[in-house]
Amino acid sequence: MSRYLEGKVAIVTGSTSGMGIGMAEALAGAGAKVVLNGFGEADEIEALRARIVEEAGVEVAYDPADLMEPEEVVGLVERTEARWGSVDVLCNNAGIQHVALTEHFPAERWDAQIAILLSAPFHAIRAALPGMKARGWGRIVNTSSTSGLRGSAKKPAYCAAKHGILGLTKVVALEAAEDGITCNAICPGWVLTGMSRPQIEVRAQQEGVSYDEAMERMVGSHPTKQFVTKEQIGALVAFLCTDAASQITGASIPIDAGLQAK
Ligand code: NAD
Repeated sequence: MSRYLEGKVAIVTGSTSGMGIGMAEALAGAGAKVVLNGFGEADEIEALRARIVEEAGVEVAYDPADLMEPEEVVGLVERTEARWGSVDVLCNNAGIQHVALTEHFPAERWDAQIAILLSAPFHAIRAALPGMKARGWGRIVNTSSTSGLRGSAKKPAYCAAKHGILGLTKVVALEAAEDGITCNAICPGWVLTGMSRPQIEVRAQQEGVSYDEAMERMVGSHPTKQFVTKEQIGALVAFLCTDAASQITGASIPIDAGLQAK
């Protein structure tokens, strides 16, 4: 059971930081070869890559594709297939945030968020599906959010994209249902990452409190009063790649410390 992804190849977009690292670690821990993707300092990315190789005993590569560009998204899938012969697990996870009232929201930030959060998953899925169908096995996991399940003021593009990815998830799940492929979305609550920390800083400024107090207020919205961890995210994604999860498809799965129960 522990190496159930041996022989499989996984791409995790946005895995140079935050939740994507948790996914990459968990999939590598289950035996998959993993392609890391995202931005960052070259030496830090190489240290991350080497650490996962060391800890999991699998091959790990890094691909710098900029997911703003459709052809780079397709290139990421094609290079992976050329390198290791397949893309069996596709985690569409990369993301950016911008927070502003809709009437002040820069059109360019709208375009960028839709490109990375919604269009890039489409291009990656479109490129990876033929190979998955030919092999009769695949796992696609899209990172949505609690903002994919309900509105969140000042996040028009983010909410639109995170709702949209749930629709794409359902369509792909239906189309691939008889091909041994599942397509699911995860809807995390707050996770302490490169995306949420700047939002804590803004909140601290706006509410005139310390960073720690702003963090307490953020996590205070969670019924459990705890953040979700990247390790918990990774474990959920890895579970969705098991045979036990083969009948879970088209689902939008909250991992949100109880937020949806409110
Ligand atoms: P993060 O900022 O720590 O990581 C984002 C990753 O995306 C980084 O690796 C970054 O380099 C990469 N990225 C950004 N733009 C890119 C581009 N153009 N091309 C390639 N890679 C790019 O943030 P995170 O919180 O780990 O976010 C991961 C996903 O989780 C996002 O889709 C985010 O919307 C979602 N999410 C986050 C939270 C949270 O509380 N942190 C909650 C729910 C959902």
